[in-house]
Amino acid sequence: MTYNTPSVANATAASALPTAPAPNRAVLMLNAGSSSLKFEVFDLQPAHLQCFLRGQIDGIGNHAHFKVKDGAGRALRDASFSGDAITGQHAALVWLLAWLQAHMVDRQLVAVGHRVVHGGTLFTQPIRVDAGILQQLGALVPLAPLHQPHNLAPIRSLLAERPDLPQVACFDTAFHHGQPPEAQMFALPWRFHEDGVRRYGFHGLSYEYIARTAKVQVPALAAGRTVVAHLGNGVSLCAMLDGKSVATTMGFTALDGCPMGTRCGSLDAGVVIHLARAYGMSIDAIESMLYRDSGLLGLSGVSSDMQDLLESSAPGARRAVNYFVYQLSREVASMAAAMGGVDALVFTAGIGENSPQIRQAVCERLAWMGVHMDAQANASGAAQISAANSPVSVWRIPTNEEQMIAEHTCEILDLR
Ligand code: ADP
Repeated sequence: MTYNTPSVANATAASALPTAPAPNRAVLMLNAGSSSLKFEVFDLQPAHLQCFLRGQIDGIGNHAHFKVKDGAGRALRDASFSGDAITGQHAALVWLLAWLQAHMVDRQLVAVGHRVVHGGTLFTQPIRVDAGILQQLGALVPLAPLHQPHNLAPIRSLLAERPDLPQVACFDTAFHHGQPPEAQMFALPWRFHEDGVRRYGFHGLSYEYIARTAKVQVPALAAGRTVVAHLGNGVSLCAMLDGKSVATTMGFTALDGCPMGTRCGSLDAGVVIHLARAYGMSIDAIESMLYRDSGLLGLSGVSSDMQDLLESSAPGARRAVNYFVYQLSREVASMAAAMGGVDALVFTAGIGENSPQIRQAVCERLAWMGVHMDAQANASGAAQISAANSPVSVWRIPTNEEQMIAEHTCEILDLR
């Protein structure tokens, strides 16, 4: 539906009785973290969602900063707040709503979609949130204590400030819920599984976006056995059979699997016990180290950022990149084994979309599996980057988790 191009019937009606044009409808996407509130506003076009604004408030609680760009990526505002004007998520949200209201003169916000890290075993698809659902989502905080409380904060604030605005929660875990039982287990006493200590997997909104995009753009790819490599600051892989997740590298938390910017990836559980016993480290200290000081940063001692590492001549940088590629190629093979083989490999997210060097290095290690890259296509950033005779096709497909959240929000609320 659009108000920009009225139909002939509408035009006739309008000429009979002039009225102000109705505002365009817009959907707000929110992704709240411990000290940041990322947002994106989408115009509700008849056939698709068009990004209109994209931005974030950073440093919430300590010298907050606001940045916003238009849909084409042009900076609209980049400014610091004075003093401690933005004390927490609630203050950030209230300020953002006021700013949006002042700057969206011809648009009306009709819904808000939220990224919520954990849906547990109960929430296996996006859901419209009311006070009761919010309470149930709050009960999942122990499963993701570093993220879930922050994700829920703006939902709570909006229920209080704008109860008229429908809200939808979209979960990072939901896409993986249909995995076979073996893919969801740990070999611990079974009662822990029943208590929810199981593999959930994350990055589900990214994988779902890739699955939907592939279905439209490369149907053959969507129908086969595909390994998708989401390589951003967070890193995980997903084995997708006919567009559905059957295995993934992240588990109970987003620490497991591949090494990441600052997270360790797979780690012998015995190391955690040793750190506590031999180094006297507290649970909080171990948690902080595994989430914030490990991965590429910990191994390199230089940076958590892949681009920095690729440009650095420090020995630690080389060590970290080598481990990243080594571990990633092992995990791709593990995902392939979960599907009894692989037809396609997809690279996505910051590193996957932008680093021909990492894509090339991973594919070289997987040549034994029939992964052969076309160096020129890879360097040019084409969508298909495998050699014509490669048994496994290789792709570079940009992800868009924000768009996926907006799509879900429209679907759940039947906005189109
Ligand atoms: P997030 O998980 O926070 O959304 P991104 O998906 O934006 O992160 O990915 C960030 C990572 O992508 C960083 O390690 C960054 O260095 C890497 N990256 C971005 N562009 C390039 C590039 N041209 N070459 C190598 N790495 C890149």
